[in-house]
Amino acid sequence: MYKTVVLGTGPAGLTAAIYLARANMNPLVMEGPEPGGQLTLTTDVENFPGFPDGIMGQELMQNMRKQAEHFGATFARGWVKSIDLSIRPITLTVEGLGEIKTQTLIIATGASAKLLNIPGERENIGRGVSTCATCDGFFFRGKKIIVVGGGDSAMEEASFLTKFATEVRVVHRRNELRASKIMQDRARNNPKITWSLNSIPEQVMAGEKRVTGLKVKNSETGQDEMLEADGIFVAIGHRPNTAFLDNQIKMDELGYIIVNPGTTETNIPGVFACGDVQDHKYRQAITAAGSGCMAALDCERYLDTLA
Ligand code: NAP
Repeated sequence: MYKTVVLGTGPAGLTAAIYLARANMNPLVMEGPEPGGQLTLTTDVENFPGFPDGIMGQELMQNMRKQAEHFGATFARGWVKSIDLSIRPITLTVEGLGEIKTQTLIIATGASAKLLNIPGERENIGRGVSTCATCDGFFFRGKKIIVVGGGDSAMEEASFLTKFATEVRVVHRRNELRASKIMQDRARNNPKITWSLNSIPEQVMAGEKRVTGLKVKNSETGQDEMLEADGIFVAIGHRPNTAFLDNQIKMDELGYIIVNPGTTETNIPGVFACGDVQDHKYRQAITAAGSGCMAALDCERYLDTLA
């Protein structure tokens, strides 16, 4: 049996693992389908303190993992199929690994990209529809691309994709962008970026093999418009990865775990949550890492009360 299991290998999970390993807790860190989390899908990270020239997201995550391993954290890969939080020890059933028992649990499973849920979208993922510019941008050299969304993610992806594409069209459902001013300005000053505002995505159009465009409805005129494109990048935000918890823990209406204010404690004793899975406000690598540290300290204190 483990003293503690950490679910997730983003900045929150890995920071928790570093602290727990240094405290001789021998944590088991479970790696899910996106090892390293969302930062591995980004390029330069310019706002993580301590890297004045920026650092690549992949590298930052590899460094955090190395640091956790260095202090004795163990890593295992597998899907958590089910979990029983009502009994002690807590029991996880992991595909390929069977049952894992632990005294405490730190949930750092993060959040994943949202989809538009319109016809033609899901079936064309990998055939022109993507949620990750960093992963797939390279495949669109010399092509026309659409980025859907009006937030910082959409601005960042659109600017990044101009490295490859001949034209990047930002499609946003309202007239006002949600993105911060600096990100908006960067995108607006990029001559390769064009704009379709007040445009509600209705259908991804595709030929036999690949995406050909996006049908949108203009919210002012009510008219449908066909926007041609070879690729469509959906950048409309994220959803917390909490479905596997099967409602055994207190969550808000969006599925984010609710923690006691100023702590990482959930409503279940011995179960802690950190990073984007419990934070839809800040969602930064540094805040995720900070809350991972808090979770490790909360967990240690909880284990002390059992001793
Ligand atoms: P976000 O801020 O929630 O923006 C999502 C965008 O997608 C909004 O413009 C929203 O439109 C649109 N949208 C949502 N659902 C839609 C739908 N079904 N159909 C069409 N459009 C839809 O998400 P985000 O851009 O991923 O940013 C999340 C957080 O991460 C923010 O706090 C952001 O500042 C941060 N972030 C920071 C950086 C950076 O600083 N480098 C980069 C990326 C993200 P409405 O505006 O109409 O709601």
